[in-house]
Amino acid sequence: MHLDLSFLKELGINDNNSGVYNGNWLKSQNAPEIEVTTPINGKTIASVYQATLDEYESVITEAQKAFKLWRNIPAPKRGEIVRLIGNELRKYKSLLGKLVTLEMGKILPEGEGEVQEMIDIADFAVGLSRQLYGLTIASEREKHRMYEQWHPLGTVAVITAFNFPVAVWSWNALIAAVCGDVIIWKPSSETPLTAIAVQNIVDKVVKEQGLPGGIFNLIIGPGSTVGQRMLEDRRIPLVSFTGSIPMGKLVAEHVGRRLGKTILELGGNNAIIITGNANLDMALRAVLFSAVGTTGQRCTTTRRLIIHESIYDIFLERLINAYKQVTIGNPLENGTLMGPLVKKSAVEDMMHALEELKKAGGRILYGGELLEGEEYQSGCYVTPCIAEAKIEYDIVRHETFAPILYVMKYTDLDQALAIQNDVPQGLSSSIFSTSMLEVEQFLGPDGSDCGIANVNIGTSGAEIGGAFGGEKDTGGGRESGSDAWKAYMRRQTVTINWGSSLPLAQGIKFGD
Ligand code: NAD
Repeated sequence: MHLDLSFLKELGINDNNSGVYNGNWLKSQNAPEIEVTTPINGKTIASVYQATLDEYESVITEAQKAFKLWRNIPAPKRGEIVRLIGNELRKYKSLLGKLVTLEMGKILPEGEGEVQEMIDIADFAVGLSRQLYGLTIASEREKHRMYEQWHPLGTVAVITAFNFPVAVWSWNALIAAVCGDVIIWKPSSETPLTAIAVQNIVDKVVKEQGLPGGIFNLIIGPGSTVGQRMLEDRRIPLVSFTGSIPMGKLVAEHVGRRLGKTILELGGNNAIIITGNANLDMALRAVLFSAVGTTGQRCTTTRRLIIHESIYDIFLERLINAYKQVTIGNPLENGTLMGPLVKKSAVEDMMHALEELKKAGGRILYGGELLEGEEYQSGCYVTPCIAEAKIEYDIVRHETFAPILYVMKYTDLDQALAIQNDVPQGLSSSIFSTSMLEVEQFLGPDGSDCGIANVNIGTSGAEIGGAFGGEKDTGGGRESGSDAWKAYMRRQTVTINWGSSLPLAQGIKFGD
């Protein structure tokens, strides 16, 4: 399958690219290279020189220099820079979306949707830049004023996963930027080109505005060297990490050891409950998008379907029919609904999970095969799978990052909720029901234990206005909307005595 790669030049992507930016692209020719391939046909797109630890130092140095200036620029003026970045992203939406598709394999509408998410968060951050509010607090002492204010934190490391190669950066970086922080981005080594393209877009704005390059930095390099160094580096007060649970635990351990802050956005194991009172047409469409979209590689992908016994057979029959209609192939082509998995090892993980499922007593109802032939030459194309399973199976409690949907039957809602919550992860959850009583039970304190609880919507496709993240092994972090910005700033409680005596709090008398 031939792919036209000429558009890469317009994004500033060459055959060989530097992977380190600190205001300038560093020429790290001695460093090991990453050959970037596309899962669409398995061929090489370009290569990237990875950062050395010396280059890491020069990135940190420039970032710290830039912070001294950036933190003193009024927040609404920082917002203006983010507004210009948002405008630039608008211009590059279709090209950048296409590169997302090329590099990680999600279909083009989803690639472009991801860039739209960056634009949306830029708009949100611009508004936020005038709303970094602190509280005024009633003091118990006469002629005293108490309030809290928020200051920039410093250098924020943003370590991102392959599956949202640009949106997750924007959730963090554009919010952190209006908060007055400087950012060092370490993207996934699976998706370095999208990161370089974004950096080029940002670089243009920063240079045009005469700002130091060290506000937005990029460092592409192995997690085990450069990533690890970031975790241990006391000059980085906050590490925002998006990735798998095992890696997130490592991040928490290393950053925690030096009492640094983390935002952890880790794996999910998301369920939809479909009750006997559900609108089945809506439920069907939602399950299809949430389970098959992005080839099952969203942190919010629906991995478990908990269906009421009264509609179990009829719903599954309709779902299997819908799965049969899913067009699988080149994600750049119109009409394709499911592209490849990101790499061959992801296919192996999927096949391994299905073997484990069968060993445990589960049954494949549809799909789960590797596709072969010229069109699928990369070896990354599979059919999405529906499998009957029980919550007790070990494999069902793990996140397999592939389109496998485990289905289970329930009798009453207490049981459905127990099944839903009985996994280590706690990211996203949904119920399909038209019964107010069922919906309220799902949303109540003994309902869903997840960070996201949706009603008559699938588990994936969150809007940027809400705080995004999950509980338990998902890590507890929150990003994007609502008051998630507070994690990127330091809170300072201020008490001013404008009187001429010195009363102590709690009425303590000391030497009076
Ligand atoms: P991953 O854990 O393999 O990699 C994530 C990042 O960690 C990459 O940038 C990688 O280079 C880096 N890394 C590796 N070793 C490191 C080290 N020693 N120190 C520091 N960084 C290191 O994850 P992935 O396969 O890229 O992404 C898929 C996972 O991410 C899934 O589990 C998915 O659920 C999760 N995810 C979660 C969210 C969320 O918001 N909760 C969003 C997207 C993806």
